[in-house]
Amino acid sequence: MPAVRTSPFPASTVLGYPRIGPDRELKRALERYWDGHATADELRQEGARVRERTWRRLRSLGLDALPSNTFSYYDQVLDTAVALDAIPDRYRGASPLDTYFAMARGAPDVAPLRMTKWFDTNYHYIVPEIGPDTVFRPVPDKAVAEVREAKALGLDTRPVLIGPVTFLLLAQAPAGAPKGFRPLDRLGDVLDVYGRLLAALAAEGVGWTQLDEPALVADRTGAELDAVRRAYEYLGTLTTRPGLFVASYFGDLGEALPVIARTPVEAVGVDLVRGRTPVQALGEELALKTVVAGVVSGRDVWRAGRERALATLRALRVRVDRVVVSTSCSLLHVPHSLERETGLDPALLRRLAFADEKVAEVVELARLLEAAPRVEPFPAPDVHGDTEAGLPVWETRSPYPVRAAAQAGRLGLPPLPVTTIGSFPQTDELRAARAALARGELPVTGYEDRVRVEIERAVRVQERLGLDVLVHGEPERNDMVQYFAEHLDGFAVTRHGWVQSYGSRCTRPPILHGDVHRPAPITVRWAEYARSLTDRPVKGMLTGPVTIVAWSFLRDDLPLREVMLQVADAVRAEVLDLEAAGVPVIQVDEPALRELMPLRRAAQDAYLAWAVAAYRRATSGAGDRTQIHTHLCYSDADQIIAAVDALDADVTTVESARSHGRVLREPAVRDFGRGLGPGVYDIHSPRVPAAEEVEELLEAVLRVLPAERVWVNPDCGLKTRTYEQVEAALATMVAATGRLRERL
Ligand code: GLN
Ligand code: ZN
Repeated sequence: MPAVRTSPFPASTVLGYPRIGPDRELKRALERYWDGHATADELRQEGARVRERTWRRLRSLGLDALPSNTFSYYDQVLDTAVALDAIPDRYRGASPLDTYFAMARGAPDVAPLRMTKWFDTNYHYIVPEIGPDTVFRPVPDKAVAEVREAKALGLDTRPVLIGPVTFLLLAQAPAGAPKGFRPLDRLGDVLDVYGRLLAALAAEGVGWTQLDEPALVADRTGAELDAVRRAYEYLGTLTTRPGLFVASYFGDLGEALPVIARTPVEAVGVDLVRGRTPVQALGEELALKTVVAGVVSGRDVWRAGRERALATLRALRVRVDRVVVSTSCSLLHVPHSLERETGLDPALLRRLAFADEKVAEVVELARLLEAAPRVEPFPAPDVHGDTEAGLPVWETRSPYPVRAAAQAGRLGLPPLPVTTIGSFPQTDELRAARAALARGELPVTGYEDRVRVEIERAVRVQERLGLDVLVHGEPERNDMVQYFAEHLDGFAVTRHGWVQSYGSRCTRPPILHGDVHRPAPITVRWAEYARSLTDRPVKGMLTGPVTIVAWSFLRDDLPLREVMLQVADAVRAEVLDLEAAGVPVIQVDEPALRELMPLRRAAQDAYLAWAVAAYRRATSGAGDRTQIHTHLCYSDADQIIAAVDALDADVTTVESARSHGRVLREPAVRDFGRGLGPGVYDIHSPRVPAAEEVEELLEAVLRVLPAERVWVNPDCGLKTRTYEQVEAALATMVAATGRLRERL
């Protein structure tokens, strides 16, 4: 039985809303503050404006229950760490705001906390650091301030915090913590503080609070499920607290469902878009609860299927205490509104829904549900029936040694060939030309002249510094996915469809809405132009199918693998055209290879098999004499080295310097059967590496890999650096390579 008397949960809500502002107002305010061009007060005023606009907007769209504390100056996980006062000592000392930003972004004397992907989304959170000695203390200030701020506007809100179990599972132990220590070991202390935070919210007159527990949709051990039980038994039996709404999202609760159902929490949020638990089973477990039913997707940009959503809601309603209509997860992962998307095809526009349109759908579904008869509906057809299918076919290229010999004969490279990852600095002139083109002030021909100048500059620099395999520098691309989306049928690009990636960073994912075709060659003429400038080999540069798909909004009427395959065939056509044009080396980048990895272990191998299949379909048309490269750049390439090997690229370049050679410590790397280029300098920092540093990293590579398979390259593309930094760093890299060649 509920331990506290709560008022019924209102009929409609959302789990969260974009917070960057429709015009990215918060992004600009943050960056002005960080650059010293705005005061803390000016930043706070912008924050307050964003929050006020959000609440008023949600209310004017007709939403009943408004979330608060979903605003953030950087990240909601970091906000929860602050609410527990879990701030490592090295960051303390500055004002609370600057302490916060030091954790998020670092300060002159201290590196930031680690940042990593938020489940299987493109959002990145700050990893809290929780040790055996972390002292917790309730700091309800931000949550309380938002409640009061909304109240001053006449609005009651539901504060949102990351739940204790997810918070601790996402945290990491500090360096030097005793072996075997896990942040979850601190559950008891953390629960005590959550209890006091809840009391502080109750004292503000808050009726409901939302605790986000997305970690419950991944595989959990028995001990972790025990932690869930313990957490919500404890919080649920407190007497001074708001109603407890535990929100799960991004998948099924699975084994955590009966666990959470048997605790005294009053409301449970379930993702009915991605989750596959039958309504029957949900009803049996959650019969006595309020179920916050996530029927409108927070992860895609499509209108919800109204019939199906309504049927699910009605079937649920006859089985549980109360049903609330909601989004499947926070709307953080979609753009603000379609209002200003004037450039989209009207037929496509009618199928789309961004955050505001999704809120309107939630409200409409709640109205329809209220009006629908309270009887079991006819079952809705399951359009997601995703039956297993075999892998696609691709032709097998000759065995690697045969290809390697053919390529060696053609390319005539020295040992330890030196190359780069693709992009060269984006100069002010290039940016200006791009902006002028967008404003219609520069004709396409003028813009292309600029692109040619930039290509020539990059080629000359590489020749002068003595690189072995050159690149054209990618000046024609604003972005490695959007550029291809703009040139392929089946994609649309938005004007204002920004989605937060981390902190002030946003991306504008293309919308893959139809069958994908490549109407004409995309990169061939730029590759040909670069080749006309030099006798050295120049790589053709493409983005791989998995990455294009991972960084786009996808259609929901075809299984992921079909979509990936269509994109793979488009990339394949481009590979064949580059080869026919005489390009001897073609790089197909897959930095997002593991981005869409399913959260549950059981589905991961099948996903990787499909990702690998798509890549091989894209690249296997190349003949033996064409050298295929790939590039991956997250630091956990080590964890999927077997899948990387299965890509069968002739050469793979990976990030390594930034993570201090972590990939090299992976035993499977020694068995890596083809060319490998672990990055020898970190391109994320403007710092030019010292020659000894680069040499040491290269020596480390040569200790685990035979010299004939080692390539020398930076960690990633150079587009965020300046020419000055790049020339110095590349010169160092070439010189270090020269010294090592002498010792071979
Ligand atoms: N070829 C791309 C570049 O150099 C790769 C970018 C990436 O790995 N994210 O910019
Ligand atoms: Zn990279």
